[in-house]
Amino acid sequence: MQSIPLFIDNKTLLGSGKKFENYNPATGEVTHIVTSASPEDFEKSIESAKKGFKIWSAMSPTERGRILHKASALLREKNDELANLESQDSGKPIREALTVDVISGADCLEYYAGLAPTLHGEHFQLGSDFAYTKREPLGICAGIGAWNYPIQIACWKAAPALACGNVMIFKPAELTPLTAFKLAEVFREAGLPDGVFNVVQGDASVGQMMTAHPDIAKVSITGEVGTGKKVMAASATTLKHVTLELGGKSPILIFEDADLEEAVNGALLGNFYTQGEICSNGTRVFVHESIKEKFLEKLIQQTKSLKIGNPSNPETQIGALINETHFIKVMGYINLGKEQGAELIYGGNQIQVAGCEGGFFVEPTIFRSSDDQDKIVKEEIFGPVMTVMTFTDEEEVLSRANDTPFGLAAGVYTKDLRRAHRVVSNLQAGMCWINTYNINPVEIPFGGNKQSGIGRENGLAAIEHYSQLKTVYVAMKDLGNPF
Ligand code: NDP
Repeated sequence: MQSIPLFIDNKTLLGSGKKFENYNPATGEVTHIVTSASPEDFEKSIESAKKGFKIWSAMSPTERGRILHKASALLREKNDELANLESQDSGKPIREALTVDVISGADCLEYYAGLAPTLHGEHFQLGSDFAYTKREPLGICAGIGAWNYPIQIACWKAAPALACGNVMIFKPAELTPLTAFKLAEVFREAGLPDGVFNVVQGDASVGQMMTAHPDIAKVSITGEVGTGKKVMAASATTLKHVTLELGGKSPILIFEDADLEEAVNGALLGNFYTQGEICSNGTRVFVHESIKEKFLEKLIQQTKSLKIGNPSNPETQIGALINETHFIKVMGYINLGKEQGAELIYGGNQIQVAGCEGGFFVEPTIFRSSDDQDKIVKEEIFGPVMTVMTFTDEEEVLSRANDTPFGLAAGVYTKDLRRAHRVVSNLQAGMCWINTYNINPVEIPFGGNKQSGIGRENGLAAIEHYSQLKTVYVAMKDLGNPF
């Protein structure tokens, strides 16, 4: 069986830490053996990154951009191969992986490749004296990924980090180790110097090596809120910079004048894409009382038509959950929803898929709840479970939408321009959509407020999180004796 090694110094290295099996979530079939990084291996990745940093940070931004451009083009060329690998590793439908995962990673590399040569400081004229700022890299950055969008997450972290002249050591989630390794190969092929992008495999203990290491200047993690808190606490011991992209329980507000068809489309996209395993999903759908029947009728009708199946089948729209543990968690919430009195109006069952007997598939599920305190309304499920609630008044729905420790995303459906902007300005969320949902092009910053995160990925904003300013004061006249 093929082994997935570490990738250090542009070379593969069999990790000397513990070994674990990597399997296809749709079938349960073990596909690879992965070797984790031991503390000694991790030290090698640090030494390699230090050497890589000297070379990479001294290169001109245009040279750096050229290599990132090439990597982006190579990713596009390898889209089909990598998308198949991603679908096999994560259980997501191949039709999604072919059109979103690798391409969004390539877009991100392309965007920051173009941005790299434009980064600059400022000049301050102070009489005859003057000062200027330089935007400098932080050094060695650690990237820690979640399992739902493995290659996209790796690109979203690596691209801005590398564009700013940093180097990165990346740890994919233990459950999805395959494509970060492929990305490292792509970088090597594009001409990235040794040590600029290293991949270490392993579980949370390898993540902890990263947060503890004094030579790592920054940690960017995508994961659960609880993990983000641990990462921030551990990073505080050496005062590392942190970017935290964490979970959510985001609201979608659908007003009485909304385009109903579009609102249904948004609710479907924001709940059932990637079988619901998306951080920014709008799992609390608030519908105006006056349109609830029509909305639910259309919603159920369209949900019924979603095809659950083998992720490798191009027709499949709902794939396999990542593993049994996660399946038990999702089904646990569905059962809890029923017990706590929410009305199950569609789905709620495990589905057997022919040829995928070892996988865990859950029907797209819709609850109607009249109690915002239900656990299924308050807690992140990270599966295909939507809860619909009704409201009558703008102020009321805003306070209910904001009544959560999360603040990742929110959506508003209305044709009233003023109401749309008024509502958005009162929503406590880092990413808001008006009359659409879950659209995240690389040009715009993405990230959470409240406990959904700190910092931003994508857009110009990410540059702030992967660079630091140095201010230089230049005296053009003598200071003279100050005393
Ligand atoms: P986890 O928080 O379980 O894990 C995320 C990563 O952190 C994994 O690589 C994990 O290792 C690692 N890790 C776990 N504990 C530690 C630690 N103490 N120190 C350092 N690293 C650690 O998240 P999941 O992988 O289960 O992903 C799902 C979560 O991610 C959901 O809450 C979702 O909302 C969130 N998410 C947020 C996004 C955003 O942009 N805001 C986007 C996508 C997902 P390992 O798993 O290998 O053991």
